[in-house]
Amino acid sequence: MGNTYVINGCELILKKGDITQEPVAAIVNAANPALSHGGGVCGAIHRAAGPGLADECSRLGGCETGMAKVSGGYHLPSIYVIHTVGPVYHAHQPEEAAQLLSSCYRESLNLALLNGIETIAFPSISTGIYGYPVREAAKIALATIVNFLKIHGKPAKVVMVLFSDSDLKTYSSAYLSLGKGDA
Ligand code: ADP
Repeated sequence: MGNTYVINGCELILKKGDITQEPVAAIVNAANPALSHGGGVCGAIHRAAGPGLADECSRLGGCETGMAKVSGGYHLPSIYVIHTVGPVYHAHQPEEAAQLLSSCYRESLNLALLNGIETIAFPSISTGIYGYPVREAAKIALATIVNFLKIHGKPAKVVMVLFSDSDLKTYSSAYLSLGKGDA
C-alpha cells in the first residue's frame, strides 16, 4: 500500500510500514540530541539493530537539532542509520521549527550523498513524541525532499515510511498539494 512518484529520475515512495524492516541502504532515525536509546521509532530502531548501535552512538558526540550523523546498521537490513534530531515543536517559534525540520531532511540527504547511499527511508520526523503537527510536518518533509531531488538527481530512491493509515493519508494529500500553496 502506498504511492510512487518520479522526480528528476528518482523515486519518491510514500508507504505505510515499519522502517526497521525497510530494505534500503540507510534508514533515518528520529533521534534525540544525546543519540541515546529512546522511545518511538528510535527505540524500535535500537531494538532491531542490537546493542552495537547504542555503543557506536555513544561515541558520536551527540547531535544538534536539525543536524544529522551516520552510523552502521548492525542487525538491521540497512547498512547505515542516519540519525537526525527533529525540533521539539513547542520549544520553537513555528517558523524556526519549520526551518529545523527541513534541515533534518536536507542534512540526512546530504549525508546519504556523501556516503554513496542510493536508497534511503525516512520516518515522520518530530510528529510523535516531539509534537509537530503531522499536516505541517508532511508539507515540509515532502517539499524538502522534492527540492533536494530536483537539485541533485539523487539518491535514486527515497521512501517515507509512515506508521499509520492516517499519516499515510496526510502525507499523500500533502504531496498532491505541493506547490499549490494550500498543502
Ligand atoms: P519524534 O521524537 O521525532 O517525534 P517519534 O519516534 O516519537 O519521533 O515519532 C516519529 C514518527 O515515527 C511517529 O509518526 C511514529 O508513529 C513513527 N514510528 C514509530 N515507530 C515506527 C516504526 N517502527 N517505523 C516507522 N515509523 C515509526
